[in-house]
Amino acid sequence: CFITLEGSEGVGKSTNLAFVQQWLEKNGFQPLMTREPGGTPMAEEIRELLLTQRDEDVSEKAELLLMFAARAQHLDEKILPELARGRCVVSDRFTDATYAYQGYARGLNLDWIAQLEQLVQETVRPDLTILLDLSTDVARQRMNKRGTTDRFEQEQAQFFDRVRQGYLVRAKAEPERFAVIDASQALEQVQQDIADVLQRFFDQ
Ligand code: C5P
Repeated sequence: CFITLEGSEGVGKSTNLAFVQQWLEKNGFQPLMTREPGGTPMAEEIRELLLTQRDEDVSEKAELLLMFAARAQHLDEKILPELARGRCVVSDRFTDATYAYQGYARGLNLDWIAQLEQLVQETVRPDLTILLDLSTDVARQRMNKRGTTDRFEQEQAQFFDRVRQGYLVRAKAEPERFAVIDASQALEQVQQDIADVLQRFFDQ
């Protein structure tokens, strides 16, 4: 199984990723936990490159292509071989993030993204995508408490609003793949919802 976790900044992705891992392990899986951009040595170098540039030094198209270059490496070197072995792979972000950030938020043509998705992934798509959804205001408050760390996190609130709306559009278009979780709830409730989603997914 191929599961992805998505959401804008400050929605609690890291905490809940650890919860997904624990749930899977408790239920007898040995999931491979990975992340994007990154997941292999070369893809992690691309991540580093992307996160440490100044905004004005990065062409939007270069950013898009680097995201997919990292993804191609990640898929071929790690995700596909593990899926072929029957292992469950859980990725912290995947292509939905590219639609949300580079497409909906930065305004790059969604058809280009779809074409790159086709080129890089062929028929590979996540089986389940858990989207943590939170109003941009609350997410910003949480982020401020944590302190900002990379150039994407320094974008304006409107940018994150577009990211959020982009994710929601994608979730609406593919309701059978997406599970949208209300991340404004208490952490216990968020995790109960995630556990329910995982249980339903494996019961199918
Ligand atoms: O998931 P994480 O917060 O570690 O991602 C690192 C940064 O890369 C984030 O700030 C995220 O906004 C950005 N990103 C992006 N486009 C993607 C994936 C991640 O701008 N497709």
